[in-house]
Amino acid sequence: LPQRHNPLPSPWEYDTSNSTEVRKYTKTYGLTPPAVETFEKQLQRCLAQLAARKTPIEKYQYLSVLRNTNVHLFYRLLAGNVKDICPLIYTPTVGEACQRWSEIYTQPEEVKEPALQRAWWPFGCGEVVEKRLTFSGLYLSFEDRGHLHQVIQNWPHDVEITVVTDGSRILGLGDLGVNGMGIPVGKLSLYTACAGIHPMRTLPLCLDLGTSNKEFREDPLYLGSRRDKVTAEEEKEFLDEMMAALTERWPSIVIQYEDFKNPFPSLERYQNTYAMFNDDIQGTGAVILGGFINAVKQSGVAPKDQRAVFLGAGSAGVGVAKQLTEFFMNEGLSEEEAKKRFWLVDSQGLVAHDRGKLADHKLYFARDDNNGQQYKSLEEVVEYVKPTILMGLSTIGGAFTPKILQRMAEMNERPVIFPLSNPSSKSECTFEEAIKHTNGKCLFASGSPFPSLMHEGKELTPGQGNNVYVFPGIGLGAILSKSVSVTQGMIYASGAALSKSLLPEEREENWLYPDIRRIRDVSVVVTKGVIRAAQKDGVDRELALRNVSDEELEEYIRRRMYDPFTEHEAVEEEIRGLAGLAIS
Ligand code: NAP
Ligand code: MN
Repeated sequence: LPQRHNPLPSPWEYDTSNSTEVRKYTKTYGLTPPAVETFEKQLQRCLAQLAARKTPIEKYQYLSVLRNTNVHLFYRLLAGNVKDICPLIYTPTVGEACQRWSEIYTQPEEVKEPALQRAWWPFGCGEVVEKRLTFSGLYLSFEDRGHLHQVIQNWPHDVEITVVTDGSRILGLGDLGVNGMGIPVGKLSLYTACAGIHPMRTLPLCLDLGTSNKEFREDPLYLGSRRDKVTAEEEKEFLDEMMAALTERWPSIVIQYEDFKNPFPSLERYQNTYAMFNDDIQGTGAVILGGFINAVKQSGVAPKDQRAVFLGAGSAGVGVAKQLTEFFMNEGLSEEEAKKRFWLVDSQGLVAHDRGKLADHKLYFARDDNNGQQYKSLEEVVEYVKPTILMGLSTIGGAFTPKILQRMAEMNERPVIFPLSNPSSKSECTFEEAIKHTNGKCLFASGSPFPSLMHEGKELTPGQGNNVYVFPGIGLGAILSKSVSVTQGMIYASGAALSKSLLPEEREENWLYPDIRRIRDVSVVVTKGVIRAAQKDGVDRELALRNVSDEELEEYIRRRMYDPFTEHEAVEEEIRGLAGLAIS
């Protein structure tokens, strides 16, 4: 058999599932143990090694090393174990990983090799470096302004999607500066695992715009610049340059903003001119919409008769309520009627005009029909409104008391109970409490995960409004349709498509969200909805997709998805092909 000239194989070419032929061709023969293994065998070993790691952070580190050394094996492992592994590569473990990023960082050792290859490999470095996935991500510093274009040129792959953060509000953990890199890395792994975006076509991007975290600035191991956070004006100019530089190099790139302390200015500034969206705002709105549509349908109460009480009138509460208003309007209500279905409650009680001066964002939903009455507590508001729906975005753990839950069950056949505050300790009630005090009647979804439980001999599973149901499909839909922007129509469509993605047996169990283990199928449905919405809004550039049927579009999406099981075969075939060429 011929042998390849390249003296240094790519990391995953040491894969124990490679055939003897491939090993000989890539000169890895003898460098891996003799056995040629099945995928199942490999996964069995990975799972055992994962189980042997005691703490979540040790498991996180094991998985990071696996991704960097054998990317296809990593995604094969993830594919069959999404439910168990997601919490290890994303929330909650990624939070701890970010907090300790300076301490656990190991990447420099891994990037030595491509540099070596550049020097050694005589036929150009493009192909060889292209095959590596050893860089954790790209850093752009405030000091680089004016030259962001050049720094971006250093990224060795072509990119379809980037997730960008400035680390200023990582989960609920505050400003973590460049330690925030764990978020784009983790999130993009989910894009690959859940929507099949090729791992090589993703760019984790972390901006080093200083940090307000004094402890980090004084930590000798901190890996970012030690300046205080730049001003809003400086940030704006920096982002302007970054957006232009990214799209100059990759004209169809999709840019997802994540975990910015103040996410609104950039969203407003770029959403009509770039293919960008903000998952914290838009993804969250869409995923709650998806569960909400199913809850409203299952409750049997017509939209015009729904009454939703929101505990919490902050940016999340108002944002979610606005998204849901759109659903009621699609169901035939006027904007005025739809708006009137909502009663918001903040720390002062029912949000009403006659209460005195209100913050701007509360005005839209402020009531004017309370006849001079002031309702201070949630309990009073529940008695007054007699809601069909109770949503919690207040950060107040336990605010949905047994008494309130009981009242909801007395007033409704199927009360809708959505305690959405994170983490679990701040959830307005637990799944167990909701089931117990509504005697199993409630339609439930939460922001944080809760375990399934037995009620009257039946296993009940809570819905979790996890953004992972929608953002992979929003991203893939924008990529495949080559959208020039991500419209509100596309965001809405992602939530609406999600609500339609349940199997008949999932509906029978009264689930509001599909089984997370089917996430790749769900993502296909969401992607299709997003592409159709892009076409409707006229922002798509892949015009050929306009003429294909729904079935063909679904087939096209599936074909375009990276599959770590067949990708491997493709690589083998390519190597065999090359070998064949070399023989003749
Ligand atoms: P926020 O801006 O701090 O808003 C909190 C709101 O709750 C404010 O309106 C506040 O009232 C109100 N509040 C506080 N204490 C209260 C009390 N004792 N009684 C009644 N209302 C009270 O926070 P946010 O950004 O909107 O986020 C809120 C929660 O939503 C967080 O826990 C977050 O984790 C969660 N969230 C979940 C998801 C999801 O499920 N995927 C997505 C986004 C956010 P004032 O206005 O009077 O201060
Ligand atoms: Mn986030």
